[in-house]
Amino acid sequence: DAVRVERVFDGHGRTSDGHRVELLANVADPEAAQAAVAANAEGVGLFRTEFCFLGRDTEPSVAEQVAAYRGVLAAFGGKKVVVRTLDAGADKPLPFVTADDEPNPALGVRGLRTAVRHPEVLDRQLQAIAEAAAAESADVSVMAPMVATVPETVAFVDACERLGLSRAGVMVEVPAAALRSRSIFARATFGSIGTNDLTQYAMAADRMLGDLAPLSTSWQPAVLELVRATCDGAAAHGRPVGVCGEAAADAVLAPVLVGLGVRSLSMTPRALADVAAVLARVSFVRCRELAHLALEQPTADAARTAVRGALAEVL
Ligand code: PEP
Ligand code: MG
Repeated sequence: DAVRVERVFDGHGRTSDGHRVELLANVADPEAAQAAVAANAEGVGLFRTEFCFLGRDTEPSVAEQVAAYRGVLAAFGGKKVVVRTLDAGADKPLPFVTADDEPNPALGVRGLRTAVRHPEVLDRQLQAIAEAAAAESADVSVMAPMVATVPETVAFVDACERLGLSRAGVMVEVPAAALRSRSIFARATFGSIGTNDLTQYAMAADRMLGDLAPLSTSWQPAVLELVRATCDGAAAHGRPVGVCGEAAADAVLAPVLVGLGVRSLSMTPRALADVAAVLARVSFVRCRELAHLALEQPTADAARTAVRGALAEVL
């Protein structure tokens, strides 16, 4: 039998000239945490907490949540873990927080918006995250999904601080947040771009519709512009921005994202080795050139083709 040699990630993402790019894992339950550890992820850039809530008629108690979160945090020791608060609504309905009669759930009360009517659910989740982090001596940050405005950002960061969570950030997945990045990062301590939703909302193309796949790609120059705007606004306050949508797992797009100013990429663990290998073969200056090259193109296809061609020698 032939021995298949798998590429391995050494646990330290960087460009060829040593510019650091943290390579993190997306994790949705304790089993995925094991896969992330096995793949040498530097930590978790997106811990989706919905597993603890979905398929239930009532909210899990704080104690149940603490136990569930500890199960994931325990796997990472002192490594960084970014916990995302509940992202209910749209494709993830939950009887105790979302309405089932919205005509257009993707544009409805979802993500952080559910906290307007149910602030106590968010507070109990933040309390559980804080308790789990303390019990595991974990390096925890928290972020909210579907943030669109500065007041939402301020309310979330305030709620986190009240519960002793000092590293509070926002997901940038609504174009309004990308465009108002400078004001948002006056308060949020970091950002994580959810390219799945950011692309859906920028292109007005349902992310679940296969027919719209040519529109629904983060290679769209309009989406790349929003990534750049997010990074520029955050940089004005010295705040780091990462990407945690599917785009982070695209090894050809990764150097473009880094060139646009992204400092960490969080992805499915099996993509880590390929993304790390490409980044290790391009310099940071080259990443910036590739970002300009992509932004100059008229279409998503042209952007992908141009960058792929420019990277031919390292792919
Ligand atoms: C995203 O929108 O890119 C994201 C990471 O969040 P989710 O896929 O869970 O909506
Ligand atoms: Mg999302």
